[in-house]
Amino acid sequence: MQPLRLACLALLLASIRLGAGDYPVQPVPFTAVRLTGGFWQQKQEVNRTVTLPFALKQCEDSGRLRNFDLAAETLRRRAAGERTFQNKPVTEFPFDDTDVYKEIEGASYVLSMAPDPALAARIDGWIDRVAAAQEPDGYLYTFRTMHPDSPAHKWIGAKRWEMDPFLSHELYDAGHLYEAGVAHYQATGERKLLDVCLRNAELLWREFGDDKPTIAPGHQIVELGLVKLYRVTGDARFLTLAKKFLDARGPRGPEYNQRHKRVVDQDEAVGHAVRANYMYSGMADVAALTGDARYSVAIGRIWQNMAEKKLYLTGGVGAVEHNEAYGGDYDLPDEGYNETCAAVALMMWNHRMFLMTGDSKYMDVFERTAYNGFISGVSESGDRFFYTNPVAYDGKAKNNASCAGRAPWFGCACCPPNLMRTLAALGGYFYAVKGDSLYVNLFSESRAQVKVGATGVELRQETDYPWQGRVRIEVDPERPAHFTLRLRIPGWTVGRPVPTDLYAYEPAPIEPWTARVNGVPAPSALEQGYVVIDRTWAKGDSVELVLPMPVHAVQGNALLLSCLGRVAFERGPIVYCVENLENRATLEDLAVPSSSSVVPVVRKDLLGGVTVLSIDGARLPPSDAPMKLTAIPYFSWNNRGLAPMTVWMQRKP
Ligand SMILES: [Zn+2]
Repeated sequence: MQPLRLACLALLLASIRLGAGDYPVQPVPFTAVRLTGGFWQQKQEVNRTVTLPFALKQCEDSGRLRNFDLAAETLRRRAAGERTFQNKPVTEFPFDDTDVYKEIEGASYVLSMAPDPALAARIDGWIDRVAAAQEPDGYLYTFRTMHPDSPAHKWIGAKRWEMDPFLSHELYDAGHLYEAGVAHYQATGERKLLDVCLRNAELLWREFGDDKPTIAPGHQIVELGLVKLYRVTGDARFLTLAKKFLDARGPRGPEYNQRHKRVVDQDEAVGHAVRANYMYSGMADVAALTGDARYSVAIGRIWQNMAEKKLYLTGGVGAVEHNEAYGGDYDLPDEGYNETCAAVALMMWNHRMFLMTGDSKYMDVFERTAYNGFISGVSESGDRFFYTNPVAYDGKAKNNASCAGRAPWFGCACCPPNLMRTLAALGGYFYAVKGDSLYVNLFSESRAQVKVGATGVELRQETDYPWQGRVRIEVDPERPAHFTLRLRIPGWTVGRPVPTDLYAYEPAPIEPWTARVNGVPAPSALEQGYVVIDRTWAKGDSVELVLPMPVHAVQGNALLLSCLGRVAFERGPIVYCVENLENRATLEDLAVPSSSSVVPVVRKDLLGGVTVLSIDGARLPPSDAPMKLTAIPYFSWNNRGLAPMTVWMQRKP
């Protein structure tokens, strides 16, 4: 590791210790985890070499960066005396600034892992253009700054912030700016963008801090950004302001952006799903950092409602296209909206729930989303995207933000950069530490440098997960040390697809998992979903975990009408679907008899190398003709042209 990156890491670790309290479980930062092969490394490499440059170019070509230049020009020419000069935005939405921020953030994560002078210089140039668009008092929102005399968009108010509780997205832009500024500072040690953030946050403090009246941000995320600023600077005003923004919601208002109740009184996942999941994540942060349990109690209730009644098998949430929102209880139609950003935000929320509790059930949901409804959002090639992730498709609907099939970009382009930044830092979700406990949450070929108590430990994972369930972990402490290794035993291993009764496996014998330390069986009792290996570790120790991966037939809860009489298949963490390219009948005509054999088949030649399922299916009556079906991983659908697709198939008794 280079000195600079070490310095940044030390800074990050130091910043985590700030404040009165924090999450009892602390994540191992992504900078300390290197994916070295296998599923996620392959995805991360496409992300770095294709998606990132593709997204940067889309931002440049679409004019999103040009908006900053136009705002800067207005500032410059008005300062020089041209009192009526103004520009018109060249893109459609006032939140387009955030795509630039998310890409700076994602690029910074890439830079944290390996030097790339050309990328660093390009991002530096972007930051100069962003900084030039900031008004002297710290305000940064290109649509108003370039066109100050009257609103340039119907969502924007005549005065700053006045329309933010509705749709102006001024504070939303600020939140993503802060996340980018902190990421860039931690990646490079340079303060340029961080200082832009701090000038903006000082303005927010002057406007809404202390005992000044505040507003409920229309699209949450500024809370998360402020917490990151607090962590990096230690300035408690930013945490106070994050809490104030949360407390400004309710007690009456629209459900759409979670203003229907005070946040601490909310008990169901409702409204716009991205806003909701960002808000629940912000509540987790504020609960952890202030010790105020009202927030954690509330998100505990909301999580239960989500996991029990509103979670797709693919880990997607936000069933309703209108308002991009959570639907009613048990209302999960096949054509569900499931925005990619909602999956990103759900992963953020579940990870925080884990950090709060040390319970693996949250990482079970995280894993389900990551391998299915999240990574489905980007094509195998890395340059085509889904905004929506339904569990069935008719082969022609323009359901993906007015596009049939994966699209190269969107007018509202929130999803691709959000996926890109998340994938770039995915290593940060693998490991965590609490006292002398070291948690292993995700499995992928990787190396990690972890500090457990005072001991540095190198972990090396070898595995072909998610296609095979054998995981070998070499545990190399710098000197012999006593600590507890906690390995997550995924819920699907013990016959529980989700931590609630929303889905269940059809009865089948359960093959037990095994864990061995240097060949000796480890205790099999689970604590909070983890196998606990408590011993003195020394160089050369290794753990072998075997998670049997039979194919599971899944049924929905009886209240889930969309799944009635139907079955879906999964193996390991992967949910499968049938795409009509291989199966010439119409999907409505397909059934899978309960006696049929379903066999995994390794296909290195297909879709970047996947395991498919070969299913003995049949046509529905009156034909009843037997038919061989091939099911592919859900995440890989629509990589071979337009075709109907379904996760759920008729179950024939
Ligand atoms: Zn999105």
